[in-house]
Amino acid sequence: MGSLWHPFSDMGAVETAGEFVLARGEGVRVWDTAGERYLDATAGLWFTNVGHGRSELAEAAAEQMRTLAAYSTFGDYATEPTLRLADRLEAIAPVPGSKVFFTSGGSDSIDTAAKMARRYWVEQGRPEKTVLVSRSKAYHGMHYAGTALAGIPGNREGYGELVPDGTAQVGWDSAEDLRSTIEQIGADRVAAFFCEPVIGAGGVYAPPEGYLTEVRKICTEHDILFVADEVVTGFGRIGGAWFASSRFGLEPDLVTTAKGLTSGYAPMGAVLVAPRVWETFFRPGAGVWFRHGYTYSGHATAAAVALANLDLIEREGLVQEAARLEQTLARVLAPLAGHERVTEVRSGVGAVAALQLETPAAAMQFAVRVRDFGVATRACGAGAIQVSPAFVMTDEEAQELADRFREALDAPVQAEPA
Ligand code: PLP
Repeated sequence: MGSLWHPFSDMGAVETAGEFVLARGEGVRVWDTAGERYLDATAGLWFTNVGHGRSELAEAAAEQMRTLAAYSTFGDYATEPTLRLADRLEAIAPVPGSKVFFTSGGSDSIDTAAKMARRYWVEQGRPEKTVLVSRSKAYHGMHYAGTALAGIPGNREGYGELVPDGTAQVGWDSAEDLRSTIEQIGADRVAAFFCEPVIGAGGVYAPPEGYLTEVRKICTEHDILFVADEVVTGFGRIGGAWFASSRFGLEPDLVTTAKGLTSGYAPMGAVLVAPRVWETFFRPGAGVWFRHGYTYSGHATAAAVALANLDLIEREGLVQEAARLEQTLARVLAPLAGHERVTEVRSGVGAVAALQLETPAAAMQFAVRVRDFGVATRACGAGAIQVSPAFVMTDEEAQELADRFREALDAPVQAEPA
């Protein structure tokens, strides 16, 4: 019996079945401690976008650690990589002139955006605008605000009321539902709408045609902040642009990011704040304090890794490679839609896809079984199998992934333990 309490786990089941321990990674492959090799279908957990084993990133981290590993950026303190990274993010942000608030990960970014949104309205003299709206199927991390915004069944239950006066949820694919919900609550009570441009952990759902433009418009009309949660979709994952917001022509008020910022080589997140919002906080002489931040906000080593990661993405044209993978994944996975165990294949927007199986239990079991066929992945949403590889996955490797999925789908289903 090990000492590790695994996140997102059925603790009893892990205790019985044991752990799957990984030892090494290279490109789109990982090896377990027994030396078995696996295609990494998820890129860690939607983050190793440049692939495993990139020594450039290890060197950037080591060099910064030897120079100044980290210093907090509270008050007027800063470090050079932190400043350089903020400028670099401003240059690629969906809204020009954005300011960058650093965090330690995606859940931090979400709670930062939630507090910024509520505080924005306080500073605007409208403190009654407190309600945060999210969508069914949404995943916005695991801190208090993010959990309260969850649209994945079960993720919110078991903790009591998380955010008093509070939160509301709308159907993931209906702009009309957003409009009527806002009108029901009263636009004068709604602070912000949180929206993953492409739903990730909820099972990989692309927005219906025109949906994002419409919900952005509804937020503008009702004076509600639009928060694009780009923790998964940011930094090229949706292909053709640094951010899904740019690809879809959105101008979010706040953009939450993490994961692909460092390709997971160091834990780091950031909130990109459009001028409309930050100007309210930065009024000279107004003495507005934002008493919020983290010990590791702007961590110098993480920032150095992020800079090296962005260099690498640019040098290797990986944002374009993600657009290639969009096509490739759609092509190689499409034939699996005909398999008797697959009810739907979702693909075609970015380097993300999902195989929908009949039940959550079937997907959980398949995610373990497919390891016997050389693939590491996981179940997400309600019965989906996640596909979100590193952008360096070749067309041949993508085909190999689809072939291995098919072999595992064809294999006899093991009986559920009684
Ligand atoms: N938002 C989205 C869309 C995510 O997918 C995730 C994590 O998967 C988060 C927020 C939370 O990020 P983290 O797990 O780094 O806290």
